[in-house]
Amino acid sequence: MKYQSTRGNAAGIESAEAILEGLAGDGGLFVPEELPQTDRSFIESLAALPYAERAAKIIGLFLTDYTTEELLACTKAAYGGKKFDNARIAPVRSISDDSFLELWHGPTSAFKDMALQLLPQLMQTALKKTGKKEDILILVATSGDTGKAALEGFADVEQIKILTFYPEGGVSDIQRLQMVTQQGKNVEVIAVKGNFDDAQNGVKKIFNDAAFAGELKAEGVELSSANSINWGRLVPQIVYYFTSYIDLVAEGRITADEVLDYTVPTGNFGDILAGYYAKRMGLPVGRLVCAANDNNVLADFLTTGIYDRNRDFHKTISPSMDILISSNLERLLYHVAGSEKTTAWMAELAATGRYQADAETMSTIRETFRAGWADQSATRAAIQSVYEKDNYVLDPHTAVAYRVAQDYIKAERSRTKMVIVSTASPYKFNDTVLAALDKDVPKDPMEALTALSNIADAPIPAGLASLKNAEELHRTVVEKSEMQRAVAAFARK
Ligand SMILES: *Cc1c(COP(=O)(O)O)cnc(C)c1O
Repeated sequence: MKYQSTRGNAAGIESAEAILEGLAGDGGLFVPEELPQTDRSFIESLAALPYAERAAKIIGLFLTDYTTEELLACTKAAYGGKKFDNARIAPVRSISDDSFLELWHGPTSAFKDMALQLLPQLMQTALKKTGKKEDILILVATSGDTGKAALEGFADVEQIKILTFYPEGGVSDIQRLQMVTQQGKNVEVIAVKGNFDDAQNGVKKIFNDAAFAGELKAEGVELSSANSINWGRLVPQIVYYFTSYIDLVAEGRITADEVLDYTVPTGNFGDILAGYYAKRMGLPVGRLVCAANDNNVLADFLTTGIYDRNRDFHKTISPSMDILISSNLERLLYHVAGSEKTTAWMAELAATGRYQADAETMSTIRETFRAGWADQSATRAAIQSVYEKDNYVLDPHTAVAYRVAQDYIKAERSRTKMVIVSTASPYKFNDTVLAALDKDVPKDPMEALTALSNIADAPIPAGLASLKNAEELHRTVVEKSEMQRAVAAFARK
């Protein structure tokens, strides 16, 4: 299988190259030139296998330049050891009529681990396959979840280093502690005096500085990124749509071939797009419901066909969905409308912050997609009502999806079985969750974990509990203007 850019260029690229490059040269995203097809016997053949082997089979349909042995080594390193605290890796938890696909059993307690545990393995294997001799330096600007998940995934991976910038004072206490205690001989974590946009713009500037890239390359270092536009981050996410389907059949909650709907808390559109790929590959997926918070640019687009980022940015209690540009939507547009229209819309978006998709495109998209959004009080109410009903504690992102799913089922009188995709452990957002449940919120983040564990029917994840005694290893703080110098210094280390 070969890859090309959503903007029509770079045809005939192998997946290993696409994963190392991240973004295509024309500014587009890499997409497979055709979509592999699966049938019922393929799906049934996965049922008896552990998650790592299921993943190797499904991912192997896309990464055809990797050998079966290579892929199995990658997926076993990611999902086969002790890094996830649930042997099923991505278990479906069914409570009364609701089914939650829990994607937060990895080392950092959020769904980013599903992809960022595997991406480093895929990259390292790609380096070997392509014979690249340079070291890769991954730069990340993070508002919280991605930074820690990337650090955890890339720590001690050979031939790759990782440097994460976070805004000083701009991440939660737990998120800061998770990052500054990160171990590994190839990792660095630096606070930037500024907000998330400052950190992100600083990283973008470094990526766009060709002279700087040349200097580093002369010293044997190439910059790369681990953000969610990389195909190597998207493809691992297709797997859990298949495994959740298989598991619900095995539990007798659906019959083989029965159609299943998913509601997905959405930010950059990567998670839900993976569900679209699964459907196009033949998995019996019906609707994909896109759930947004107050930053409802995507919900508006899927409803009206107009994408307009010219609106206020809201900082919400579901921060990982606080996004106004959903990069992966470009891939959906490409698959539905082709590269010519996609290129034009993306140019309009860059120039004016707005574009309108044509009626034919929207009607195809709406065969599969629905959307809704929940504001912060509806989100808190969802946390409370599920806890009262089922003694199950939702994190605020999953609570957005829960509320949007309820609205969807009611509005469309749907009788199709719905899976809510659950993207973070409630412990990761314990202050918001405790407040939503009308509990006191201890100031100390470790005490807050304990307070939540007294009411939640689930243990504190090991990665969070261990923060209590972990040493703070990364204390560097830099001005925005010093970020490039920090990158150069770490590259030479
Ligand atoms: C990243 C993230 C999301 C959004 O996922 P996308 O793939 O960006 O749409 C939702 N919830 C949590 C907890 C996340 O970390």
